[in-house]
Amino acid sequence: MTTTNSSPDLVMRSPDQIERAMADVGYSIVIGRLSGDELGVLVEDARFRDDLSRYWTLHPIDGAWSYYVDGVWSPAPRPTGMLETPVTLPVMTPLISRDESSIEQSTSGARAPLEALRWIVQGTRNAYLQGSITAEQTRMLISQYVITDRHGRYWTVGFRSGGLHVFSETEWRAAQAPPSPEEIVDLILQITCPNCRDILLSSSKCTHCQYETSPEGRQGLEDLLVGLSAYLSHGADALPEPVADPWRPPENFPYMILACPECGRGDIGPLPACRFCDPSPQLQPVMLRSQ
Ligand SMILES: [Zn+2]
Ligand SMILES: [Zn+2]
Repeated sequence: MTTTNSSPDLVMRSPDQIERAMADVGYSIVIGRLSGDELGVLVEDARFRDDLSRYWTLHPIDGAWSYYVDGVWSPAPRPTGMLETPVTLPVMTPLISRDESSIEQSTSGARAPLEALRWIVQGTRNAYLQGSITAEQTRMLISQYVITDRHGRYWTVGFRSGGLHVFSETEWRAAQAPPSPEEIVDLILQITCPNCRDILLSSSKCTHCQYETSPEGRQGLEDLLVGLSAYLSHGADALPEPVADPWRPPENFPYMILACPECGRGDIGPLPACRFCDPSPQLQPVMLRSQ
């Protein structure tokens, strides 16, 4: 269920931010600053996804937007909302994590655990949608916050639906009903040896100081340790609802990416020959990573 291993890390950007970044790319092309390979990488990453899962691109020189609909690139009107894009697009806006610190502080209040969890996930989602944090930062942040109950189950709130999910055995499932307030426990407190303060590895006695746990508490402790072990091996790095869908942009482009075989400078069609070399050789198409 991890979403990021094969995908680049993603972030939200406004059309305005994208246009400014691509104007910088266009300027670098015009003055011959980029090699064909550098240009290929930049352009290949300069693709964007809207909230309808359509992929977009922006021509770095003429600034025209295109989107990919029904298998073809078409001229598009300027998008209106935020767009998802790989973090590699050199947008000159720092990634600010201020939302993380405000979230951390506010959880120390007296909110009920479930309400606090909903609030954290919603706040983190807003931070992602506004472009303050990347998809991977969002995933790491949310996966730190789970609620545990005394049966050793883990609870979290879906990133997209806001619905409650419970981790049972090997996977997250949509929960039918929330845990009752009496069932929710502080896992770390429960599995800490009351004598030496080390984490208990066995339900019958502490392997560090040999303190024997009470016989009545052993089944509960056993459930917690089994649940913890299952969660760590199957669920700890996954979310029930991924922050972003896998990044699968179209393999082709609405324009050609070319490079000079002599000086290596990249260009974007339709110029047939290098503007910098004399005599000027014909430009050659650049092979992209996705092809
Ligand atoms: Zn101990
Ligand atoms: Zn050249």
